Amino acid sequence: MKIPYINLALQWKKEKRFLSPIINKVLERGHYVFGKEVEIFEKSISSLCQTKYAVALNSGTDALVLGLCLLGVRRGDEVITPPNSFISSTSAITHIGARPVFVDVLQDQNINPKLIERAITKKTKAIMPVHLTGRVAEMKEIIRISKKYGIPIIEDAAQSINSKYYNKKAGSFGDIGCFSAHPLKNLNAYGDSGFLTTNNYLFYKKALEMRNHGLVDRNLVKKFGFLSRMDVLQAAILNYRIKNVDKTIEKRRDNAKFYFKYLDRKNYILIDEKKYQYNTYHTFVIQTQERDKLIKFLKKKGIGTAIHYPIPIHLQPASKYLGYKKGDFPVTEQQAKTILTLPIHQNLSKKDLELIVNQLNKFYI
Ligand SMILES: *Cc1c(COP(=O)(O)O)cnc(C)c1O
Repeated sequence: MKIPYINLALQWKKEKRFLSPIINKVLERGHYVFGKEVEIFEKSISSLCQTKYAVALNSGTDALVLGLCLLGVRRGDEVITPPNSFISSTSAITHIGARPVFVDVLQDQNINPKLIERAITKKTKAIMPVHLTGRVAEMKEIIRISKKYGIPIIEDAAQSINSKYYNKKAGSFGDIGCFSAHPLKNLNAYGDSGFLTTNNYLFYKKALEMRNHGLVDRNLVKKFGFLSRMDVLQAAILNYRIKNVDKTIEKRRDNAKFYFKYLDRKNYILIDEKKYQYNTYHTFVIQTQERDKLIKFLKKKGIGTAIHYPIPIHLQPASKYLGYKKGDFPVTEQQAKTILTLPIHQNLSKKDLELIVNQLNKFYI
């Protein structure tokens, strides 16, 4: 591939000079679990996300599972969420025995707030919007519904670190915000990592215990917990990268601007950024009828692409017991056939972008 969809080795090459001494220092000190790096990371993240508290965890999936537990979601309860996310928004709900209730999405791939109210039942214990692609879901309406019915919001903000909606940050709208620092995310570690954000002190204290077996001190457990700690090494790496996160995102936004400006809109549907949005482009998704042919064409030209996600969650074999069928979520299903994710990462060169745009525009001639 001339231009792979993602190039993490290139990121390492560019950062090696700065990260090597940081990694070395942690390894030489010999203290790998809990430490000041983790606390520093939590402070910077809560400040970045404009929340009172943040808790560093082992993954975004863990943040979702723990977050649902903190909200008191239990076996048999229902959680409303879109069917076009990464699988773990839904699997987190099933891990605690609750039932995912899907609601279709808008053209921008985020949950359609107009369809939420009719999905609410007596058993609904949480609404989980997903801020897909780095764009915050339509939170005004979702918050209105949450207040009207007294149902808490847990945000899946795994793809949306630093994204804004009316100048407010992803992860600061709901009762709990869940983030991932997986290598593919905009703020990324060298392995699995994640965190949650909240303004609720009780949730914060409980999350600190629950991520560490439920231990309240060295030997005492009042309620069984999980094992989900961010290790010192990942925290140290993230503390370096968080300083550059604005730059990383600005570069991604510049790349997006390039696509918006030069891609031929006759053949590609692009979702424009609204005035009140500040999107961070975890992914840049176009929609087009000839998607599968286009993938092959681009591959021949050395351009890597991806599909996020080709199989809607309600149609996954694992979802069979939920009883959904083809046709239940027409927008999600239609998008699954037409969406294509272009390379957007911060280390793309101008030349890379020009090549991608030229080939895309050529395809339909
Ligand atoms: C990446 C991702 C997750 C899961 O995060 P992990 O850190 O990989 O567990 C959850 N939801 C969405 C939307 C994601 O993109």
